[in-house]
Amino acid sequence: MEARAPQPHDNIPAEHEQPPVGFVPTPSAAYRRHRKAAKLLDQPGPPQAQPTADVPLPYAFGARVLMWKQDPSVTELGTRKAFLPGIVLAGPRDARIVSGDGIPPVSPNAFGDFVTQPDTPQFDAVHTFAVVRQTLTMYQRALSSAGAAMPLPWQWNSSADTTPLQVFPYGLPNVMNAFYSRSQACLRFGDFVPSGQPDRIYTCRSLDIVSHETGHAVLDGLKPLWLMSDNPPQTGGLHESFGDLTAIFLALSQLDQCEAVIAQTKAKLHDKTFLSDIAEQFGLALGSTTGLRNADNDLTLSQAGTEVHAISQVFTGAVYDILAELFAFERAPALEDDAAVLHRVAAYLRGVVLRALIAAPDNAASYADVANEMLRIVAQDGKPIDYANRIRNAFVLREVLESPVPLTEDHEPSLRLSAKVRDAAGAVQDRRACCGTMNLAEYYKLEHVLDAETQALARWCAEHGRSAAAGADAPAAQSRPGPFDGSLPAPGGKDPA
Ligand SMILES: [Zn+2]
Repeated sequence: MEARAPQPHDNIPAEHEQPPVGFVPTPSAAYRRHRKAAKLLDQPGPPQAQPTADVPLPYAFGARVLMWKQDPSVTELGTRKAFLPGIVLAGPRDARIVSGDGIPPVSPNAFGDFVTQPDTPQFDAVHTFAVVRQTLTMYQRALSSAGAAMPLPWQWNSSADTTPLQVFPYGLPNVMNAFYSRSQACLRFGDFVPSGQPDRIYTCRSLDIVSHETGHAVLDGLKPLWLMSDNPPQTGGLHESFGDLTAIFLALSQLDQCEAVIAQTKAKLHDKTFLSDIAEQFGLALGSTTGLRNADNDLTLSQAGTEVHAISQVFTGAVYDILAELFAFERAPALEDDAAVLHRVAAYLRGVVLRALIAAPDNAASYADVANEMLRIVAQDGKPIDYANRIRNAFVLREVLESPVPLTEDHEPSLRLSAKVRDAAGAVQDRRACCGTMNLAEYYKLEHVLDAETQALARWCAEHGRSAAAGADAPAAQSRPGPFDGSLPAPGGKDPA
């Protein structure tokens, strides 16, 4: 066939300007010619009504990004184009999230889009920003759709401090971890070469890891006391679990991922999928076959002890069971596509979980506190009693709640159920198997440990005749260092500045 000469309206950039994917689909040249001709023949219509809503900007805004759908190891899913429906400036950055230094700022192309080549620093910066942005937007929507809109401030935000969250995709070189730091107002992601393997793994390329750490940041803005290590083990478990659930909910906020899950599992969510295997690439690098942790598990509270990572899997597993149960209840293949049902059910459930966490006590919250709030919320939302029954049953099977009636009977909506397994009085969190966030020194109140030691020293001195007056006139007192100010070196030995 003979090549057609370029037409003036073929305003499509050359292929090399948009590697490695084709241009976002647009109407064909033939269709646009047809539409142009048809418009010339149209009679002018009546004037259109002026929009009543504010139109803040004279142009449509929002940015397209290219990002990993899951992570580079899940080759079946690969990359995706996504639309971020807000203003995104060079960096990328917006009002709430900014890319930190370490990677030169990425500029949008002529269309305002951030479409770059995978396996480059620019792609990693865009991908990481996009996942954090999508996570924050997802939870803002969850609250707005429940009539409880709020911007979900970061922990340090106030009327005088609107500092955004900084994101460092290459923030922990040669470290096999990632974390959210409140004191540094940032997320940092590590990269490392697994032993015996040739290729470097970047944790920022994992949708699961980035959304997990963003989950910590979102929850810390709502419940600042929960992250401290002197909480009971279950409170720590809620934080770690919320990170994992955030990864699952973010995957299910994307229609194509819902469709992939349905196809892969034949609509049986308890079948093994990439969805319940969180952080595949990271887990594989560590020698696990099921990702960093498996959401589709059968752990109960009495099996988990004080190990926060294990406890977190109990809550994550219960919510995953509830997701599978509510999906099975709502499923109606004769009426609605399964993927659409899964998308809708997951959207509702993530709102219930977030609202229940917000309603739980500000300090030392337990699983039973959150489970009871979930039961209250589905009743308040007027959901069928099957919702409460399935939530109750999932938490009873995990030894979170006790039911006064057999699980085959309906839940009494006004009833608060008692906890089955409680943290022992004074139980101390074991955070060793948790992510980097939970192991940061800043959440351990280390100043108190040092205070106790200095007080013990003072007592010993007093008891052994070294009173304060004895050293008051010593010349060396002039050069004594000041008291410990509580500041700690930045983790990873890096200066956050
Ligand atoms: Zn975590």
